[in-house]
Amino acid sequence: MQVGERFIIDGRTVAKEVRSEVAERVAALRRMGVVPRLCVCLVGDDPASQVYVRNKDRAGVGAGLEVETHTLAATTATSELLALIERFNRTDEIHGILVQLPLPEGMDTQAVLHAVDPAKDVDGLHPANVGALWRGEEGLVPCTPAGCIELLDRSAIPIEGKRACIIGRSALVGKPVAALLLQRNATVTICHSRTPDLPARAREAELLVAAVGRAELVRGDWVRPGAAVLDVGINRGDDGRLVGDVAFAEVREVAGAVTPVPGGIGPMTIAMLLQNTARAAARQSGIAWESLTPQP
Ligand code: NAP
Repeated sequence: MQVGERFIIDGRTVAKEVRSEVAERVAALRRMGVVPRLCVCLVGDDPASQVYVRNKDRAGVGAGLEVETHTLAATTATSELLALIERFNRTDEIHGILVQLPLPEGMDTQAVLHAVDPAKDVDGLHPANVGALWRGEEGLVPCTPAGCIELLDRSAIPIEGKRACIIGRSALVGKPVAALLLQRNATVTICHSRTPDLPARAREAELLVAAVGRAELVRGDWVRPGAAVLDVGINRGDDGRLVGDVAFAEVREVAGAVTPVPGGIGPMTIAMLLQNTARAAARQSGIAWESLTPQP
């Protein structure tokens, strides 16, 4: 990125690149007799979850993965889901397990996340993977945070030495993004609902990540001129339109680079899920991921 240049980060195009690289590696795995297979558990009939699962299925198949979706009733007992996961854990032909969140009220989400074999935990939410991430050890990294870093890298936006501010501290997005930025030598501030003077904290950042779930919370005057802004939020506006956590029209006038919603982080999340599944399949089959790199 040149000084003074402004651009909109095109997550769709970058995600397509990642997906096609994953597809090449999946083809190489298939030639070696490994068919990467992802099992998705969808519990209940939340319409947004149904859309997400359909998109994952479609993208997975497009990249040459086998995707099985197991749909369970909202009234399913936690023990029944645990038994299903245990079966997937023991099946060698299944390399990735994803439980679509949120689970219906009354289900024990923690028990479910803890039950997934860490080697198959393509959402990176098992405590073993969370610990590995913070210790800088090899493990599976949550898809949205991994997508944020991949998008910065492929947009040639430097991370090392930058002041980063993340708004949101969830286990799914905020905290793992912080861990990844820290690993890449950014200086990281994590903000949340109790942070005093949030706009001032945000304005200090050269890299600003919004993962809040509040439509257009981040205004133009929260952004340092030239900063890179990643908008993770997905919210429905009053008119039913999808909007991010960032007031896009204002922020694009100030930021050096900004992701749109839709078409920013969302597509990257799915691309990283496919990559995690293919990586997990390679690792479980004793094949080095690097050895699958397409030859020039
Ligand atoms: P979450 O678990 O609800 O966490 C939201 C975080 O934002 C919390 O840490 C909360 O602080 C903080 N927060 C809430 N209101 C705030 C405010 N007014 N000022 C400052 N901080 C505030 O949500 P999440 O799972 O991280 O998801 C965040 C957003 O990203 C949602 O819109 C979600 O739909 C979206 N998302 C998108 C993708 C994708 O693929 N693009 C993937 C996952 C999530 P406290 O901790 O103090 O409560």
